Amino acid sequence: MTNQVVVAGGGAAGLLAAGRAAQKGAHVLLLEKMKLPGRKIGISGKGRCNLTNTAALPDFIAHYGKNGRFLHQSFSRFFSQDIIALLEQLHLPVQTERGGRVFPAEGKRGVDVVKALERWVKDLGVEIRYSTTLIDIVVENGRITGVKTNRENISCTSLIMATGGATYPLTGSTGDGYRLLEKLGHTLTPLRPSLVPLLTSPKIPSELNGLQLKNIKTRLFIDSKRKEEQFGELYFVDSALSGPVILTVSLTAVDALRRKLKVSLLLDLKPALSDIQLDKRLQSDVTTRNKEEISSILRGLLPAQLVQFCLHETDISPTLTGNDLSGKDRKKLVTWMKNVRFEITAYGSMDEAIVTAGGIKLQEIDPNTMQSKKIDGLYITGELLDIDGDTGGFNLQAAFSTGWIAGEAAACRQ
Ligand SMILES: Cc1cc2nc3c(=O)[nH]c(=O)nc-3n(C[C@H](O)[C@H](O)[C@H](O)COP(=O)(O)OP(=O)(O)OC[C@H]3O[C@@H](n4cnc5c(N)ncnc54)[C@H](O)[C@@H]3O)c2cc1C
Repeated sequence: MTNQVVVAGGGAAGLLAAGRAAQKGAHVLLLEKMKLPGRKIGISGKGRCNLTNTAALPDFIAHYGKNGRFLHQSFSRFFSQDIIALLEQLHLPVQTERGGRVFPAEGKRGVDVVKALERWVKDLGVEIRYSTTLIDIVVENGRITGVKTNRENISCTSLIMATGGATYPLTGSTGDGYRLLEKLGHTLTPLRPSLVPLLTSPKIPSELNGLQLKNIKTRLFIDSKRKEEQFGELYFVDSALSGPVILTVSLTAVDALRRKLKVSLLLDLKPALSDIQLDKRLQSDVTTRNKEEISSILRGLLPAQLVQFCLHETDISPTLTGNDLSGKDRKKLVTWMKNVRFEITAYGSMDEAIVTAGGIKLQEIDPNTMQSKKIDGLYITGELLDIDGDTGGFNLQAAFSTGWIAGEAAACRQ
């Protein structure tokens, strides 16, 4: 009898799982609750889809924190060069950008990645049923025997769960898989938003919204102890802090806030200059432009929106001229620019987070096949796993790789 594989969820993991299982000779049925597949792939990377990264394996794995080791086997079998080769074979060339980030080449976007993968699975004979929601999983004597959907009951010998995480629920990823798997006896580690904006007290003034800062250093403190340091870009969005340097430290902040610890963030707006060098630079600006107002002089060091904020925070009058600025005020400005302090009091919701932290406990899954250790014929992939990566293409690659090896294992199962 041909192995009947059902794949629940037509996102990054599900499309790869379905295609690989079909390549390996299984009869594959892909169930997708939305009218179209891969909504999240389509909006990823602001629509450009940062699909993977060129980092070498050990460095790559380091981008998932302590649970990254679990991905070693999947990455050894299907890695960044393999998804790139697959897309190129599907006539979708890619380009590598700063930080090893891989995107579809000029003129192509995330939606083109989805179209290419959808065409690929269809050409391999995968049957896709859209607007079909998995609502229950049938297990008999510890084995998968079928699934229930909003439309019908279906028999199968293997089920690959690829229903994604719980963030951005409008994409269709509403956390269904976590609930269904927990019902079957799998353990769920606490779900939290990761790669999420951080909110401050006092609230960031709306005048700063839209401001993007490059080449700045951030230091995250938990209960006054320095925990993480990042260098790069920060954005002020909707009176919250966002951008790569924030998203990368966000989970540490989220977990600390959940434990009711004190979280603060210090920005160094001039990391290339020491306090002494910055003071010298400001002193020289003030001396040469001594008749200008300090708000105008500071424009040489800070973007206009930040000048107002800086003078407000340091309590220095914007109309003070260079001549009138005391040495004490100059030191105050230097200290501020090197240590802009925000108390982090809250974080964005699941609706705004790029990825879900937490998920199905990894100890309950075989890392060679993604098969559940509790239920025969059940495979768990993608964001459902207790794995979350940094920004840079790491989350999609984890979904592609775990989907691929689950598809292969399910198809080859006797
Ligand atoms: C705004 C945003 C930007 C991102 N940008 C990037 C990026 O640039 N690079 C990167 O690496 N990662 C990025 N990510 C993260 C990445 O998109 C996800 O980690 C990845 O898509 C997870 O893949 P998945 O297959 O596990 O789940 P998903 O891609 O979410 O797919 C799950 C699928 O299952 C379907 N489904 C859910 N429940 C059911 C059900 N009960 N029955 C049937 N179908 C169901 C959903 O409709 C969906 O199609 C981004 C995420 C967001 C939200």
